[in-house]
Amino acid sequence: MQGLVYDYHCHTTASDGSLTPTELVQLAAEHGVQSLAITDHDTVAGYEEAIVAARAANIELITGVELSVLWGRVELHMVGLGMELSAPIFSHLIAQQQGARTERAIKMGVRLDKATGLQGAYEGACAIAGTVAPGRPHFAQWLVANKQVRDMEHAFNRFLKVGRSGYVSTPWVTLQEAVEVINQSGGIAVIAHPTRYRFTRMKLRRLLSEFCTYGGKGMEIALPRLAPTQTDMLYDCLAEFPLVASGGSDFHSPQQHWLTLGKIPPLKEGTPFVRSLLNR
Ligand code: AMP
Ligand code: MN
Ligand code: MN
Ligand code: MN
Repeated sequence: MQGLVYDYHCHTTASDGSLTPTELVQLAAEHGVQSLAITDHDTVAGYEEAIVAARAANIELITGVELSVLWGRVELHMVGLGMELSAPIFSHLIAQQQGARTERAIKMGVRLDKATGLQGAYEGACAIAGTVAPGRPHFAQWLVANKQVRDMEHAFNRFLKVGRSGYVSTPWVTLQEAVEVINQSGGIAVIAHPTRYRFTRMKLRRLLSEFCTYGGKGMEIALPRLAPTQTDMLYDCLAEFPLVASGGSDFHSPQQHWLTLGKIPPLKEGTPFVRSLLNR
């Protein structure tokens, strides 16, 4: 599988991405991606369309999702790959997460109305999100459009990140439940972007140890823009636990000109790769 051009982490308009599933698959094909998983936040609504586009583009499409999960009180992201989308236990989890997203969005709207002195944050974010439950990036866009902040980054720092006035803690599925549901749906559970939580090495090892106990099997390591010390730490962790490597760009929009679909560092020779666990 050396040389396979793949991307197992990216987003579409089914969550907070700006390209439709068809546009995303076509762009991936243009960049030479041979094997793709779309990992929208807590939804697989993009798949019906993506399957058709992938067939037309002659690209391998692996089912994927990026779940928001709770590890204790910490919110993490876990990618699921290769699930049987028709598995009732999986659909049930997705419905539960979507319910949590909608309730969170309503509460965020109330908080942001109060914090900004404006009205209609929830309705505004819904209009930007289209048919999907609005997430924080949609509220960020609403804040930018209403001149409350300079840009998305400013919106997160001022209103949306943990501890800020618009933040609402959410009863996401626990890490353990999420791993179990992915396993029971025939998928592989993968810790997403492990360096983004700013954990110490010790805390990351504690997470990975628990994750493996629950039946988790993978960790993202092929990620753009990692510092060499972060890469070293992740390879050390990969060697210490029974985990395979995955990775992807976390592409959301062509405006992220520093990211390209499928453009991720190659895995070091001999690294166990998640694709070998996805039997299709
Ligand atoms: P949510 O799933 O609704 O909590 O939103 C999380 C998403 O917000 C992430 O997947 C990113 O796409 C985006 N995000 C998180 N932090 C930032 C930031 N500082 N600036 C811009 N986008 C961000
Ligand atoms: Mn996102
Ligand atoms: Mn994420
Ligand atoms: Mn993502």
